[in-house]
Amino acid sequence: MFFIGIFGIESKKKDIKALTNIQCKNCNLNTDGSLIKVYNVFHFFFIPLIKWNERYFVICKNCGFVYEIPKDKGKGIERGDSIEINYWDLKAAEGIPFSHPPVEFKCKNCGRVIKPDYEYCPHCGNKNE
Ligand SMILES: [Zn+2]
Ligand SMILES: [Zn+2]
Repeated sequence: MFFIGIFGIESKKKDIKALTNIQCKNCNLNTDGSLIKVYNVFHFFFIPLIKWNERYFVICKNCGFVYEIPKDKGKGIERGDSIEINYWDLKAAEGIPFSHPPVEFKCKNCGRVIKPDYEYCPHCGNKNE
């Protein structure tokens, strides 16, 4: 079709920043993460004209769990403001709009990787909620 590449709508993913000291609720650790931004863009002759539906995500480097953080915090960090992402900002993302490696679930007691559907850890017997 004639219009392909001249204008269109794309969903984009951008790495914003490497984060240190995030409190991952999945691995129950203070660990590193990366902040990424996902947005839709309407472009015309390769010039992005309108951006919308911006969402910010934090991915735990340790287990790969994806959290969504409030947009204003994400924007602030992107601008370079010194903003702390705290425990309550990290909400398990629903409908992750990008591909990412599968999440590893770790036992909250011994930290070993277990299947997410295991109620009891096969290594130490701890009950994981
Ligand atoms: Zn984690
Ligand atoms: Zn265990």
